[in-house]
Amino acid sequence: MMRCLALDIGGTKIASAIVSGNQVTQRQQIHTPQENVVEAMHQTLAQLLSDYAGQFDYVAVASTGIINKGILTALNPKNLGGLAYFPLKQSISQHTSKPVYLLNDAQAATYAEYQLQDKNNLQNFAFITVSTGVGGGLILNHQLLTEPNGIAGHIGHTVADPNGPVCGCGRVGCVEAIASGRAIEAVSKQWDDPCDPKEVFARFRKTDEKATALVSRSAKAIANLVADLVIGMDVQHVIIGGSVGLAEGYLPLVKQYLAQMPEIYRCPLDAAQLGQDAGLIGAAAWALTQINR
Ligand SMILES: [Zn+2]
Repeated sequence: MMRCLALDIGGTKIASAIVSGNQVTQRQQIHTPQENVVEAMHQTLAQLLSDYAGQFDYVAVASTGIINKGILTALNPKNLGGLAYFPLKQSISQHTSKPVYLLNDAQAATYAEYQLQDKNNLQNFAFITVSTGVGGGLILNHQLLTEPNGIAGHIGHTVADPNGPVCGCGRVGCVEAIASGRAIEAVSKQWDDPCDPKEVFARFRKTDEKATALVSRSAKAIANLVADLVIGMDVQHVIIGGSVGLAEGYLPLVKQYLAQMPEIYRCPLDAAQLGQDAGLIGAAAWALTQINR
């Protein structure tokens, strides 16, 4: 069995492990460098490659942002601070002769969740993560979309409300600007009794009117996004993950809004099953398909 050194690079932490089949072993987690970031990232990667030396046949990386031809970028590269345009693939390849494959973390999670489905009977599939932001990934004709520019799956930046707030990407009214944890917080912190998104959900479950309206606005935007995926790409099944997506009571609300739409816009919706290792497992599994291509 091929052994993968899998890395999951996030804005605050970097997870690493050896993945073989669905087995995740030797998992480590460290903080993403926040100071002198370019030099620190080169050193961190060198250290990780050395820690796992001799234990892998290929490297797979799931990363925050957009991976465009091995280089790290983002819809808003400023969000990456000093790591904008970091040559991720090149930095890793300096320390190993094994093949290196990279993709976006939400794309990796999509591929991981897809492995748990009845793949032969599921041609078109989507994953939506509703968390601090809204991200996702798309499988069309059984293939994860990653090329040509690494953008596919950034479905949080489709429009939910053309009169809505300005999104971090610069566009007006994105799903992310309405449905994400950050969008929820932007409203709830302005309340007379301000609170964070976690408390918004606690109040929502106690049927507080303002909290219910705010959570409903988010759920409705996600239901519309699902409907757009179904009608635009014949997506047959959608999995919802993320801290907001998996908050108690949220998915039933999305299902409720979707059920109000004409039948042709609907598809089955379910909660993500893989937790924090989704990026590692998905990157490892997807990279294997690239090796065998
Ligand atoms: Zn946006």
